[in-house]
Amino acid sequence: MMKSAQPAVRIYGTRGSAACYSIRDFLHRSDIPFRWTDLATDEQASTEARVSGLDDARLPICVFPDGARLERATVRQITEKLGWFRSPSREEYDLAIYGAGPAGLSAAVYASSEGLKTILIERYAVGGQAGSSPKIENYLGFPQGISGAELAERAREQACHFGAEILLNREGVRGEVVAGKGVGYLADGTKIIARASICATGVDYRRLGLPNEHRFFGAGVYYGAGASEAMLCERQHVFVVGGGNSAGQAALHFAGSGSKVTMVVRENSLKAYLSEYLVDRIHASPQIEVLLCTEVIALDGDQILRKITLRNNETCEEWITETCWLFLCLGGVPQTQWAAQAGIICDSGGYVVTGPDLLRNGSRPDNWILDRDPYTLETSLPGVFAAGDVRHGSIKRAASAVGEGAMTIAFVHRYLEKG
Ligand SMILES: Cc1cc2nc3c(=O)[nH]c(=O)nc-3n(C[C@H](O)[C@H](O)[C@H](O)COP(=O)(O)OP(=O)(O)OC[C@H]3O[C@@H](n4cnc5c(N)ncnc54)[C@H](O)[C@@H]3O)c2cc1C
Repeated sequence: MMKSAQPAVRIYGTRGSAACYSIRDFLHRSDIPFRWTDLATDEQASTEARVSGLDDARLPICVFPDGARLERATVRQITEKLGWFRSPSREEYDLAIYGAGPAGLSAAVYASSEGLKTILIERYAVGGQAGSSPKIENYLGFPQGISGAELAERAREQACHFGAEILLNREGVRGEVVAGKGVGYLADGTKIIARASICATGVDYRRLGLPNEHRFFGAGVYYGAGASEAMLCERQHVFVVGGGNSAGQAALHFAGSGSKVTMVVRENSLKAYLSEYLVDRIHASPQIEVLLCTEVIALDGDQILRKITLRNNETCEEWITETCWLFLCLGGVPQTQWAAQAGIICDSGGYVVTGPDLLRNGSRPDNWILDRDPYTLETSLPGVFAAGDVRHGSIKRAASAVGEGAMTIAFVHRYLEKG
C-alpha cells in the first residue's frame, strides 16, 4: 500500500464499511500512498481515531500529511482536498471527452498538445479499468510491467501539462447536440458545451446478480482486481470469480501477496479467455486452486461477507465455504445509457457503433444529416466520436484504447475544420 517513503494519508474505519473501501480504492487508483487502520475495538477507535467508538458517525476519518482531518470522509471531499474537484473554467470548449480511462486520457493528451481547448470529465478516478490492474505487462515500453494506477497518474499529469482541464468525480448523465454543438449535462447540473465530443466511457464490471450482493459491496464483495486490497488479505483465503485476463492477473497478484487463491471459472478450461502466459503462471503457482465449471450462487454474512455457496454445473454439486474476500472479474457492460438517450446508434450489446460500421449496404443512418459518410470513430451524431472499449468492435486492450484515443483527435481536427 505504501509505494515509497512519501507521506501517506491515514484512513481510520471499520472493515465492513463500503465508504472506507471506496476511499482506499480511489487513493490507490490515484497513486496516492495511504495507510489503512482497521479499527477493531471501541478503545482502539478512541485512542487512534479520536472518536467515541466503532459506531461513531464521524467514521471514516482521513488524516492528511499536512494534518488536515476529514470526518465522515467521502471520495468527493478527498477530491476537493487534493485540489482535483474543479468547475469548468470556460463557457465553451473545442473538445469535451467523457471518461478518463486510457482512451480518454490519451485523447486529452493529444488534443491539448495540439492546441484544442479540452475538458475531460470522469465520474470517479483516472485510469478506468486499467487503473485497477495491479500490473500491465503488455504495454509497449514497460518491459517489467507497470501498475495501471501509475500509468494513469502519469497520463493525468501529461494531460494537465498540456493544458487539458480534468473534472474528477463528475458524471456525464445526458447529452444532446444543439446548434451543432455538443451539450453534456453532469449529474450535479453542470453544463459542458463543446464543438466536438468523445465518448470514452468504457465498460463496467458485470454483477453476479445475487439478491444481497449490493449489501456486501466493499464489505467482502469487490468488483475488479482489488489492487488496493491485496495487502489486507495477506495469508487469507481469497476467491476470484472469472476466467479472463483481469481475473488471472488478480489471482496472481493475491498469490504474490501470500494469499491462498481459489479461481471460480464458469468455463471448462482456463484457456477459453485467458492469455497463455497467465495460464502457465497460474498452473505453476502452488497457492492458486482453479475450480472449473463452477459458479457462486449465494452470499451470506453479517456486517461483512462470511460464506459463499458454490455450484459445479457439471456434477450439480453445491457446497458452502467460508471467506470474507470475493473478487468479481466478470467482464464488462458498456457505459452507454446516456449515449443511447442522445440518439447515438448502439449495437445490441449497447456498444457505440462508429464510422464504416454505421453504413448499411452503403447507406448512411437515417438520422445522419451531413453530405459525407461518418468519419472513422465518429458516431451517428456528427462531431460526436467514440474511442476505446465502449466502441463496437474495439479490441479490449489498454494499448488499443490509447491508440484509438490518439486517432480520434485527427478526425476531431477534420470535423472542426470541415464539418
Ligand atoms: C483488472 C484489469 C486488468 C487489465 N489488464 C490489462 C492488461 O494487462 N493489458 C491490456 O492491454 N489490457 C488490460 N485490461 C483491459 C484494459 O484496461 C481496457 O481495455 C482499457 O482500460 C479500456 O480503456 P477505455 O478508456 O476504453 O475504458 P475504461 O478503462 O473502461 O475507462 C472508462 C472510464 O470512463 C468513466 N465513465 C464511465 N461512464 C462515465 C460517465 N457517464 N461520465 C464520466 N465518466 C464515465 C469510467 O469511470 C472509466 O474511468 C485490463 C482490464 C482490467 C479490468
